[in-house]
Parts: sequence; structure tokens; C-alpha cells
Amino acid sequence: MGVAAAKSVANKKDLTGWRILQILTWLIGFGIFFCLVFYPSIGVILFWNILIPVAPLLIVLAVGVWRNVCPLASVNLLPRHFGFSKGRIMSASTQAKLGLISVLLLYFIVPLRHAVFNTNGHATAWLLFGMTITGLIMGTQFEWKSAWCSTLCPIHPVERLYGNNVLGAVKNAHCAECMNCVLPCPDSTPNMNPRVVKRSGYASVSGLLITGGLPGFVWGWFHVPDQHAFHSPMSFLGVYEMPVLGLAVTLSLYTILLQSKLIKESWLVRIFATAAVSCYYWYRIPSLLGFGIYTGDGMLFDAHGIIAEWIVSLLPVVFTLFFIYFLLIRKPNKKSWLIRPAFALRSRAAS
Ligand code: SF4
Repeated sequence: MGVAAAKSVANKKDLTGWRILQILTWLIGFGIFFCLVFYPSIGVILFWNILIPVAPLLIVLAVGVWRNVCPLASVNLLPRHFGFSKGRIMSASTQAKLGLISVLLLYFIVPLRHAVFNTNGHATAWLLFGMTITGLIMGTQFEWKSAWCSTLCPIHPVERLYGNNVLGAVKNAHCAECMNCVLPCPDSTPNMNPRVVKRSGYASVSGLLITGGLPGFVWGWFHVPDQHAFHSPMSFLGVYEMPVLGLAVTLSLYTILLQSKLIKESWLVRIFATAAVSCYYWYRIPSLLGFGIYTGDGMLFDAHGIIAEWIVSLLPVVFTLFFIYFLLIRKPNKKSWLIRPAFALRSRAAS
């Protein structure tokens, strides 16, 4: 057996655990999708009130683990894994444009949760189906994660912001060889953040929008109730009012602080990431337990009479202190999300 073949066998064995995890998470993902279609009220709880609330914490701690096992990524990367992707290298300018679209998609889709997705399992199923098909089509054309996970996925801007000081890098369970398909590769860049790439106007704007805008957007989002009926187009557009207002306020603050040069931008990014994720759990934990601003919205179960109110009030404080420690006090540890696999040319040269 040649050196390259031996390496390939060893690599496949190394990935057995990840493959099992990918299959398990795919089955869970498919189960949730099945519920959204056939048991919508259960599907909504499983997706919006269990899976999604866990995601920000996992992204902060170990976004590489999430990117290895995300069921949507596993589907979108099938064309590349099974060799029927054209594997085209996307130009840097297209990557930057898709990156900006992904931020705009995030800000467009998330308020629609109040309008429709939070209460409508079928609509959520269509949303997931649309994203899967789009990613799959992109995957037939473009190389590895440039097709979706590192460009167009609307969760990716949040990964870049929250995942700026993860616990450590794990093995890359998707890219067999590095084809340099994304520059810089978010998976392989130590302490990746949305402001790392500024070489194009699109990248600069998308970095600003997500870093400066997200804390206010999250705050505003929690100040909109779920809508159960719409009486006019204006009432539909109302779900955007508070999130956009909040976004504008924190984005302005970020821009002023950036221009003033009072605080280094690397610190600003960490402060704003901490603010956004802390704000999320500040409101999300009480609402999951039935103590939210709008009774019943986003509730997993009603903890009144089960968990003392002071404990529910304490939990967001504990989470906030944890994020302050994890994202602000801990020094940047120069870790990437994933360990970059060997570059294709180098490994081919070795074989
Ligand atoms: S590790 Fe290499 S091949 Fe994989 S996404 Fe990053 S740049 Fe592309």
C-alpha cells in the first residue's frame, strides 16, 4: 500500500466517530423535519424551542463540532463527498457578495419567526426545505464549504461572530483535502471573526452589519410578540420594526466607537459578540420556562410552581457572567474551529 493510500485509510478510520455522529444528527434533523410536516405543533417545539436555543451556546464553545455534524451541511456536502460536484472555485468577489446576502437573509428571516415560523410547522418545514435545496444545488457546482456553509448559509455570520474564541479545534469531518476554496477559510483561521475580511466593500459591510447590528437586533426581536393573525400589510411589516430599530442603534454605536479609535477593533468585536449572545439568553431562558415578556411565546414548558422565580431570574445572570468570562476575559487562544486538512497539492505531491 502506498503512503497516500495508507494515509487515506487512516483518515477514514479517524473519522468513523464523526460519521456516526453525522448520521445520528441527520436522523434527528430528519425526525424534526418529519414532525414539522406531519405533527407541526410538536415539530415547532422541537425545532424552535429545543434545537435552536442550544445552538448559540454550542457555537460559542465549539462551532467546529456544530459544523461537522450540522444535518443541513451533511446534505449540502453530499455532491462533493460522492464526487458529483463540479468543484468550481468561487471568486473572492462572489464569496463576499454571498456573504453579504447571508447577513441580509438572517435579518430578513429571523423577524418572520414572529410572523409565521414560530407558530407554523409547515412554513418552517418549507424554510428548511428551501435552504436544503439551495445548498444542494450550490453543492453540485462549487467546492466544499464555499458552496453554502461558508458563504450563503444565514447562520454562518453568527458563527463568525460568536465563534471567535472557541475551546479548541477538532478534526475537519467534511473536507478530505483543503482546496483553498474559501479565503480566508473560516474553519481554519485562528480566532475567526466577521471583521477579519475587509478587502472588499461587500465583506466590510457584511462584517459591520453583523458585528455592530446583532446585539440590538436580538434585543429588538425579543420585544415583538408572536403574531397569530394579520390585518394589513403594515401589521405584517411590524415584526421588523423593533429588530431594525435595535440594529440601527447598536450599529451606530459600533461605528462611532470604531471611528473614535478609543477601543481596539478586536476588543469591540468581542464586546459586541458577548452583548449579542448574552442578550439572547437573557430573554430566551425565561421565555422557554414560561416567564417571558409575552406569555406563552417560545415556551418549552410552564415552570410556574415548579422552578422558583428567583432561579429563573438568576439563570440569565449566570449565562451572562459565563459569556463575559468566555468571550471577553479569556485571552484569544489562537485556535481555529477545525484542523485544516492537508492541502490538495501537497498531498498529491506526496503520493
Ligand atoms: S478547509 Fe479548505 S477545502 Fe475545506 S472549506 Fe476550508 S478552504 Fe475549503
